[in-house]
Amino acid sequence: MINARGFKVFRQFEPSPVPFPDGREHTTVAIVGAGPVGLAMALDLGRRGHPVVVLSRLDFVAQASKAICFSKRTLDIFDRLGIGDAIMAKGLTWEVGKIFWRDASDPVYRYDTRPLKDQKRPGFVNIQQYYIEEFLVEALAELPNVELRWGHKVEAVTPMNDGVDLHVTAASGTYDLRAEWVIACDGSRSTMRRELGLDFDGRVFQDNFLIADIRMKHEMPMERWFWFDPPFNPGQSALMHKQPDDVWRLDFQLGWNVDRDAAILPENVEPYVRAMLGDDVEFEREWYSVYTFQCRRMDRFVHGRTIFAGDAAHLVSPFGARGCNGGFADVDNLGWKLDCVIRGVAGEALLESYNVEATAAAEENHIHSTRSSDFLTPKSTASRALRDAVLELARDHEFARPMVNSGRPSTAIVFDSPLSTPDAEEWTDGVRPGSVVVDAPLGDGWLLESIGEEFTLLSRGWRGKAPVGLRVVEVDDRDRLAIERLGLEEGAAYLVRPDQYVAARWKSACDADVEAALHRALAA
Ligand SMILES: Cc1cc2nc3c(=O)[nH]c(=O)nc-3n(C[C@H](O)[C@H](O)[C@H](O)COP(=O)(O)OP(=O)(O)OC[C@H]3O[C@@H](n4cnc5c(N)ncnc54)[C@H](O)[C@@H]3O)c2cc1C
Repeated sequence: MINARGFKVFRQFEPSPVPFPDGREHTTVAIVGAGPVGLAMALDLGRRGHPVVVLSRLDFVAQASKAICFSKRTLDIFDRLGIGDAIMAKGLTWEVGKIFWRDASDPVYRYDTRPLKDQKRPGFVNIQQYYIEEFLVEALAELPNVELRWGHKVEAVTPMNDGVDLHVTAASGTYDLRAEWVIACDGSRSTMRRELGLDFDGRVFQDNFLIADIRMKHEMPMERWFWFDPPFNPGQSALMHKQPDDVWRLDFQLGWNVDRDAAILPENVEPYVRAMLGDDVEFEREWYSVYTFQCRRMDRFVHGRTIFAGDAAHLVSPFGARGCNGGFADVDNLGWKLDCVIRGVAGEALLESYNVEATAAAEENHIHSTRSSDFLTPKSTASRALRDAVLELARDHEFARPMVNSGRPSTAIVFDSPLSTPDAEEWTDGVRPGSVVVDAPLGDGWLLESIGEEFTLLSRGWRGKAPVGLRVVEVDDRDRLAIERLGLEEGAAYLVRPDQYVAARWKSACDADVEAALHRALAA
């Protein structure tokens, strides 16, 4: 359906009424923006019982062509948020990527996005971003403490010592909302950033990519296929990937000097599709667009009582699927911390660790993404010659294959975190502090499932007395793979944060060690 403003709409909502016309209202948390990150943030905090108001400029979920690849780490986060099974049921699982060069039918490089098997979730699932938004909206409808306001736009922001004042406009009026905490998830053109006068620095890449999302019946293994310099797009790159509902994402590199408006006209797109798939291919247009990409981010994500997440905080090229996946990682990192601060379990210093960890994650995503972009679009004749030499070598030589870079797939980031207790030297294996716990079968379920939304002590025969509020999960001797992956000897224990990251671990710990590590993990 196309709405009155010309947008392709996946789901239309009734515009929400203004609660107190020309009045003033108070809430604990306001979330600005109902894209995937704002909605996930609302679900995380809403499930923890906090009153949340979500303000969405739009009154619909757009049927646009944005994210399709969601990583294993994101799927683990979706499980924690209670929407993992719905997304798995609709999405298409894939783990293998293949990279082709020129006209060769054999790939020069093949990679596996989840080399470590026996984990609950696969390396990736492909599903249209609007389905993710839909599942999040449905889950939020179950929470009476979360209010989604469609068609409510934040126009002005006034930071206060103990909160933030938002001036909101809607079709039926205006009002002021005082929130103790505001999470700015209002996307790359963030009003919140602009109103607070904050910078968004980085690099714009001089290239254009044509997206042709088409509907067709086509058989191909469920894999990501990427071409450098294929005969159907000489001198450029291309990508092909399947989505649910027989929709396919075709992506063609166009170069810099193109007429972007003309490039998306059907008569200009369809020759690309036919060159790739054959003259007789039958397909329908789902969405055609041209995008350029940028790597930009804010210097800090925490500004008093306003905290930035998702594209509002950091923008990254789509290669490697680090945009939305990076935004969900922000949600995962911030949710439990803000929960602890609001409940008075931790002081505001804990939020500074979100700033440290989430900016480090954004920086790492930028480094990966910039490397991929430079490999994809060499800037000089010399760098193109080097790139082609790598591809040539990769065909026959194992050592060159890891240098082929069409986007390193998003994985969980490892932090050098102020919340982590440094390891004792005796640790040589397992999962080090600052890393996310690796999954493995545990009893009838999975290791990651056993970690709730609180701090957890994963123990193998630890005999101490756990501090109040700390859950203890005993790993049984029969859980061989979990024991092996954690290096969990008899008497050892891991302290795991509510976002499934390791805070500390011991071969043998006394009660005071655990207490001190828990304090440190709460920035106390
Ligand atoms: C072609 C393409 C392919 C991509 N593929 C992938 C992929 O495969 N995997 C991946 O992880 N990422 C991918 N991404 C990136 C992903 O789409 C974004 O990272 C994601 O949309 C960010 O979500 P967000 O919620 O932070 O921001 P947005 O989705 O931009 O949502 C922001 C919301 O805030 C609202 N808003 C703005 N201003 C206001 C205001 N003043 N008041 C109230 N509301 C406001 C907007 O209307 C919008 O709904 C891709 C992007 C593109 C363009």
